Amino acid sequence: MSEQPLDIQPLIKAAEAAYQHAVAPSSGFRVGAALQTDHGAILTGCNIESPVYLGICAERVALFKALSEGFRKFLALAIVCEEGVHCPPCGTCRQLLWEFAPGLKIILVDKCGTTQWHTIEDLLPKVFERGDRKPFKNND
Ligand code: ZN
Repeated sequence: MSEQPLDIQPLIKAAEAAYQHAVAPSSGFRVGAALQTDHGAILTGCNIESPVYLGICAERVALFKALSEGFRKFLALAIVCEEGVHCPPCGTCRQLLWEFAPGLKIILVDKCGTTQWHTIEDLLPKVFERGDRKPFKNND
């Protein structure tokens, strides 16, 4: 399989831009994420909280945007958080990323620009599997 080379600077810039759109009135903790497809497209997301504590993580917004646009293969996800913090995905996001983006590289970026590199398999070594059920089995 030939993959596009991974240039993380545009991915990090996209995650930083998404970070600016975070809606976090409850926690004040803002997150931006950018997901790169195997075609080189970048889909972004920010965390979104409501006043009654419902919400969604930046990583899932980016993943769901990409899936809803028809993308099915993903290379890397950059996540930007508050200054001095490398924020890994929560458990729910890890499960969904493992299911829809096997082999995904995850780059954690703090607001100073320092990075930590992981794979989804590193972050979720003991995954919940649903047997042979595949997420795209019925329509792809
Ligand atoms: Zn999450």
